[in-house]
Amino acid sequence: MQQKVQGLNKEFKRKDVSRLRNLIKGKTGASTSSQIGYNTKTEDHKEGDVWKEGRKTWTIKNGIKQTISKMDAIKKEIFMPLCCPKCSKVMKKRLDKPNYKVHKMCFDCVIDYEHKLRIRGEYDDYIKQLKLKNHLTQVNEIENIFLELANQSSEGFVSEHGEIERWKGGIDKEKISSDITKAAQEARENIQKELTNKED
Ligand SMILES: [Zn+2]
Repeated sequence: MQQKVQGLNKEFKRKDVSRLRNLIKGKTGASTSSQIGYNTKTEDHKEGDVWKEGRKTWTIKNGIKQTISKMDAIKKEIFMPLCCPKCSKVMKKRLDKPNYKVHKMCFDCVIDYEHKLRIRGEYDDYIKQLKLKNHLTQVNEIENIFLELANQSSEGFVSEHGEIERWKGGIDKEKISSDITKAAQEARENIQKELTNKED
């Protein structure tokens, strides 16, 4: 087991921030290894893998190790209706799903909408705002996952790869939670700053 009581908060913060940074930059390909039980045997897992560990089924989504039940909740959140709410056509094209997730309309409607924006000369600004809003959503999601993980266990913390690491002595949940919120708030403020600054 790792002894990480000393300097723990500092390490957590550093890793937390670098983790946020990686996710914001879209670096989700990093693999993670998990410790099984209390022996030293480790298994390497990468994005999209599904495996059993203890009584739970785990996967790695967006670089973060999480249980399948959490995945189910995320899936429900992006549940897509059969027909486009805008044009009422059945959404069955490959690009309908990713577009619905972001725009809440079918791919054709998005193309149509973006074409109108291009004519009005508003397209570049729209794309920039879209990217920034996407980053904001990601930061919020990451913050929630970190806070949940930090508070669900009294004997572990979240490592760089979203893995819960264990050590002797317990953790200062309050300090960790406030570090997470602080890092996320910082990221949000930077994004907000760019969102309101439309000049560049
Ligand atoms: Zn449509």
